[in-house]
Amino acid sequence: MYIFFFVFGLFWGSFLNNIALRLENNEDFLFSRSKCPNCKKKLSWKELIPVLSFIIQKGRCLNCGFKIPLRYLVVEILTGVWVYLLSKSIIFNINFLSLVEFLFYFIFLSIIFVLALYDLKTFLIDDRFIIFGLFVFILFFLFKTYFNLPQRDFTYLLNYVFNFYGKIEPLISALLLSSLFLLLYIITKGEGLGFGDVKVVFLIGLFLRAGDALFSILVSSFLGSIYGFYLILKNKKFKQPIPFVPFFFLGIMITIVFGYKLSKFYFDFFKL
Ligand SMILES: [Zn+2]
Repeated sequence: MYIFFFVFGLFWGSFLNNIALRLENNEDFLFSRSKCPNCKKKLSWKELIPVLSFIIQKGRCLNCGFKIPLRYLVVEILTGVWVYLLSKSIIFNINFLSLVEFLFYFIFLSIIFVLALYDLKTFLIDDRFIIFGLFVFILFFLFKTYFNLPQRDFTYLLNYVFNFYGKIEPLISALLLSSLFLLLYIITKGEGLGFGDVKVVFLIGLFLRAGDALFSILVSSFLGSIYGFYLILKNKKFKQPIPFVPFFFLGIMITIVFGYKLSKFYFDFFKL
């Protein structure tokens, strides 16, 4: 059953990759047909099947023979994998509520994923995606309130501390974590992370429970600083921008997919 989500993810990855590419090139990112990056020929449906088209065409454009960047294949497969993992972590039985809930996390992660691709290339955040995320969160919030669904726990370490806030927890979580990042941004004078990262953290705080959001940001910061350290060793200079959104994405995925196991491991380890 979950394999369907993987296959769907491959197609979705192709779509998200195109959105990110069009953002990078300042093109209309929703309503234009895919074309070869070299000869600009519009692609037919046969050339748009994820992974398969790439293999059949041996990674080249059918019209001009241009070598299609490996990025297309990598983004499609990565998206297939994360959509699959997300479905396994959210949907335990197929029913209306869990499918809609999945849909909300899926849109949230798609937004972060496109922002991550865009950040890798440009070190920028596109505000339209943040605003879209806020809009999706409001729908998510109304949906949960209407069906009286509890917020999902992905880790069990810190969430209970925030139970006290009830319905306004997402707002507390978003404000708390983004002001922490704002402080970091001000202290480092924007040299480590950008103001865009503060906005992304706000979105993460809204969608995840406060403890989960904190956990995912700690994981992201840990992975990001390993990468930063690697860059310093490689380029032998200290001041360089780090695209941070890809690490946020990784941190969120690790929290959603492994949060429960990691918490259990922690509790068992300390015999709590
Ligand atoms: Zn071409």
